[in-house]
Amino acid sequence: MRKYLVAGNWKMNGSTAASEELCDRIVSGLPKSATVGVLVCPPFPYLEAVGKKLAGSAIRLGAQNVSQYVSGAYTGEVSAGMLKDLGCEYVIVGHSERRAMMGESSEIVAEKFAAALREELTPILCVGETLEERTSGRMEAVIASQLETVLDGPGIGAIASAVIAYEPVWAIGTGRTASPEQAQEVHQYIRNILAKRNVDIAGSVQILYGGSVKGDNAAGLFSMPDIDGGLIGGASLNAAEFLAIAEAAGSQN
Ligand code: PEP
Repeated sequence: MRKYLVAGNWKMNGSTAASEELCDRIVSGLPKSATVGVLVCPPFPYLEAVGKKLAGSAIRLGAQNVSQYVSGAYTGEVSAGMLKDLGCEYVIVGHSERRAMMGESSEIVAEKFAAALREELTPILCVGETLEERTSGRMEAVIASQLETVLDGPGIGAIASAVIAYEPVWAIGTGRTASPEQAQEVHQYIRNILAKRNVDIAGSVQILYGGSVKGDNAAGLFSMPDIDGGLIGGASLNAAEFLAIAEAAGSQN
């Protein structure tokens, strides 16, 4: 049975003090009996401080991005080894903001995915369509292509060590979430693509939904059979809201 995972993507927000305070609130508010996986992904400069605050808790540390390169003359880049050194266990790759604003192609995303795995970090591979792609009937082709670049490179075996996040671009930060049925349809489609390569891996990989998840819509999304938790942006900056989402996941078990 797949376990639920609720991951907070703090994006480019906060300060050391604000990150520590948010982290303290999440750690102290998460019941010790919580059965869901919980993960926070602060900006790079706050990883160390947040990692210290998480020590001894069940909450995991992740990063929002990673370089595809190992080391050397790559000014401004942060390698998977460096993230590992800071205590990260997860890293988000292929977030739509990076694909759209930083020009990350699916090929670069696949390289980042592979770089994370080389350091035994769990990549959270984000896929998702824009509104225009959905309304023009290209949603499935876009998602298949985003997945297949990883399946044809790192391969289906690598997916077994990863998490996938379906994040419709039109739902990110807009307050317009996909309905549970819309999200389920795509999650099932993703699992079907994976199943063509390996049925067992398709059935065991966690697929998160991301896009305007809040405390009051999380339970409906998480009740769907192929939705294994959420990648949470805006709501993860509010401890009470983030904890409510984690509780919604926990109440499904
Ligand atoms: C995200 O950026 O990954 C995200 C899902 O954002 P939000 O929850 O704010 O829509």
